[in-house]
Amino acid sequence: AAVEAVPAIVIGSGYGGAVAALRLGQAGIRTLVLEMGRLWNTPGPDGRVFCSTTAPDQRSMWFRTRTEAPLATFLWLDVVNKNISPYPGVLDRVHFDAMSVYVGRGVGGGSLVNGGMAVTPVRSYFGEQFPTVDANEMYGTYFPRARAMLGVNTVDPDWFESTEWYRFARTSRKAAANAGLKTTFVPNVYDFGYMQREAAGTATKSALAGEVIYGNNHGKRSLDKTYLASAIGTGNITINTLERVRDIRRQADGTYLLTTDRIDAGGAVVGTGQYSCTYLFLGAGSLGTTELLVRARETGALPALDASVGTGWGTNGNVMLGRANHLWDTVGADESTIPVLGIDDWANADNPVFAEIAPLPMGLEHWISLYLAITKNPERASFSYDPATDSAKPGWTAAQSAVSVSMAKKLFDRINAANATIYRYDLFGSASKAFADDFTYHPLGGCVLGRATDDYGRVKGYPRLYVTDGSLVPGSIGVNPFLTITALAERTMARVLAEDTAP
Ligand code: FAD
Repeated sequence: AAVEAVPAIVIGSGYGGAVAALRLGQAGIRTLVLEMGRLWNTPGPDGRVFCSTTAPDQRSMWFRTRTEAPLATFLWLDVVNKNISPYPGVLDRVHFDAMSVYVGRGVGGGSLVNGGMAVTPVRSYFGEQFPTVDANEMYGTYFPRARAMLGVNTVDPDWFESTEWYRFARTSRKAAANAGLKTTFVPNVYDFGYMQREAAGTATKSALAGEVIYGNNHGKRSLDKTYLASAIGTGNITINTLERVRDIRRQADGTYLLTTDRIDAGGAVVGTGQYSCTYLFLGAGSLGTTELLVRARETGALPALDASVGTGWGTNGNVMLGRANHLWDTVGADESTIPVLGIDDWANADNPVFAEIAPLPMGLEHWISLYLAITKNPERASFSYDPATDSAKPGWTAAQSAVSVSMAKKLFDRINAANATIYRYDLFGSASKAFADDFTYHPLGGCVLGRATDDYGRVKGYPRLYVTDGSLVPGSIGVNPFLTITALAERTMARVLAEDTAP
């Protein structure tokens, strides 16, 4: 097949990819975005773009015959997951030996499936993780820029205190307060004005109809509505979907040559593509970008990649857990899917934890407080490449997850003790499992800023090759990560467009 030559290519259309695409387009650089997932803009037979969480169909998950929701069971019953037919659905769960990783698939990447929490990290911890990055510039310029571009807003506190839809969060807040712990409001990209109209019955329900991990049909400002819409608006951006980059190499003239697989809705490879570009931006996410680079180094396609490519990977210390409240501490049958509160104990030097108060909308009173704890787990893993399967995987172990669990347990033991409550043991599949220690929503690292790349995401050893996504973050950032990923990508693009692309 003929090689298509373009000035710039962006791999992936999540946060890192979307920022790169917009800024390249605004700079007048013609850019091709290659995304393995589909574009989510066409209603299915039911009139909706995304399927619901209660009746998931093929649109829910990436080529599965059965859904794999984070909460496997309720009262130990296998009532959560459903059989589906294989299709390029929006949520993927990538399995490794002791850890599986949830990622979004489609134009918009993780923004299509995530909880929308847009959290600015604690400044001192950001400084610890990124000692070479000018924090004044980040907190003065790039975090504010990312928040504005993403459409971050906050829930109206009066409405929060009065609405039935956040009773679950108020109940969890009370339990935390009883243990002397402080909670804080967390900004979000879900439009809270829209949510109030949902509650008032004047807008079609989305967050108030259980929609989130398989996509929101309304209300959510996902990247296809923000960065990517503006990128398309520049007239310089083309997005190819259902096209997965397999191979990257560098040609004698210094351009990059990419080989792709084009897939159909059944997952069959129906063709391959070849593209060359002068500037190549990797936004395939922590797993995608790291695998592409580890494969390129180990197969000899990009042999000069630094030894640190594939190292520094972590789970952001993620642990999910549930507590059982007393009968009089109801959480309500109605729960918004959008989290707005976090328990902030990050300043506790003995056991730093930030725990999102997570919703568990089931349409009935279940008395469960659910949390996604982000612990300061110092463990990191490295990727290894397997030539037999041509894939790379992080060697994360169960013992490394146990570190996160013990930190989460310390915090929630305190909350249980103060409230005379216990954990819920019926939610995570196997009998008596109180902590979900085997999945993460926050894969981070693999191509860490300042190690695998220079201080601006330029890949060491390869001019005009850049990383702009979550693989730059060294395994942990202490809060939900997409705002940090977006702000770092803005910083990289400002520098690269000023210094590297001048004629
Ligand atoms: P991604 O957003 O993962 O984008 C990578 C894109 O590249 C994807 O679209 C993928 O399909 C594509 N891709 C990968 N490999 C290839 C390839 N070889 N060829 C072509 N395309 C490829 N974070 C928060 O900050 N707040 C939250 O509330 C929050 N909630 C979450 C809830 C869930 C259920 C999940 C799964 C995640 C959540 N996250 C949250 C995490 C957040 O979504 C991720 O940190 C973020 O999306 C990572 O951005 P990224 O740019 O690194 O990559």
